[in-house]
Amino acid sequence: MDDADLLAAAREALDGLILPDGIPLLEAKTVSGPVLSGGRMSLAISIKEAEAAAYSDIRAKAEAALRAAPGGDGAIVVLTAEKAAAPAPPNLGKAKTPAAKPPVLSGVRHVIAVASGKGGVGKSTTSVNLALGLRALGLKVGILDADIHGPSLPTLLALHGRPRLGKDRRLRPMQAYGLEAMSMGLMVDEETAMVWRGPMVMSAITQMLSDVDWGELDILVIDMPPGTGDAQLAIAQGTDLAGAVIVSTPQDLALIDARRGIAMFRKVDVPILGVVENMAHFVCPDCGSQHALFGSGGAEAEAARLNVPYLGAIPLTMDLRTASDSGQPIVARDPDGPLGMVYTDMARTLWSTLDAAPHSQQKTLQGV
Ligand code: ADP
Repeated sequence: MDDADLLAAAREALDGLILPDGIPLLEAKTVSGPVLSGGRMSLAISIKEAEAAAYSDIRAKAEAALRAAPGGDGAIVVLTAEKAAAPAPPNLGKAKTPAAKPPVLSGVRHVIAVASGKGGVGKSTTSVNLALGLRALGLKVGILDADIHGPSLPTLLALHGRPRLGKDRRLRPMQAYGLEAMSMGLMVDEETAMVWRGPMVMSAITQMLSDVDWGELDILVIDMPPGTGDAQLAIAQGTDLAGAVIVSTPQDLALIDARRGIAMFRKVDVPILGVVENMAHFVCPDCGSQHALFGSGGAEAEAARLNVPYLGAIPLTMDLRTASDSGQPIVARDPDGPLGMVYTDMARTLWSTLDAAPHSQQKTLQGV
């Protein structure tokens, strides 16, 4: 079947579905799609924030209909809401409402976020290698790439194909190097996601958490979208995080962003588990000498200043870059090498902090 046939089949599958306001889904101006991009079917329904509960049933029905149609495996339907004009209340973090959804992450002991104030500092590289370090400790580890606008997990872990749907119509994470992995990049192609606004990103991530059967995990590592906007805040609140790791490069400018990240998590009462200084110094592949290209020690000093744990420094090396970009993360490729050991040591420190914390009970996902 070519794309036109698949789209026709998708429209046929959606025929007869009616939105809560009585308008047939296929005729509604508030609906964009179905669209088929990169082999994946998606559809968005634009709603008012207050209508989320009323539309959850039709969202699920539309998604089930698309997934049952030819070529619809892994189809996704998202509700998007324009943000209310009023600024977020200052006590956002304290106002944790009771879970509006079933405790979908109840099999996960700890959910942690790896975040950075801005992109390109090595957040995803750190997430993957920390996750593998945790795995090397014998833990059952999942990793969720929530970086919708620049999903890198498929590259970093060489994930190919699409996630499988279980009999219960929930997605199964993919397996890579002993990790359970899921990425927005496996569900929606980058061009589609590019135009998504904050609320759409939030609802897509929430759905990805609840639509995926993570099973029993010791820890789920969320590779956060870069920045400190609404989407990040929503994930930080909606997933009842046990803590966050902040990745920064040593320059002042990056540290200003990292500080913002730390402030955001503090605002929602998420403990900072540690700061990682990435690209701390350059190791020359020819002579092995070290050069502090971006200065050094900035993140460590900042961590001390802000009274948060410092987890350690990762050098800027050619090996790390080629390993990451070829889908063979350094901890998987060379666990006993110097970098493999740095990441595994960081993972050990992280795990001992987490396991000692009282916050190790069941996680619940709140409605966004
Ligand atoms: P982010 O998730 O913050 O956008 P990435 O982890 O995707 O950043 O890294 C951006 C680029 O930098 C990638 O090509 C990655 O391989 C490279 N990179 C990250 N950390 C290092 C490092 N310590 N040494 C060398 N290259 C690195």
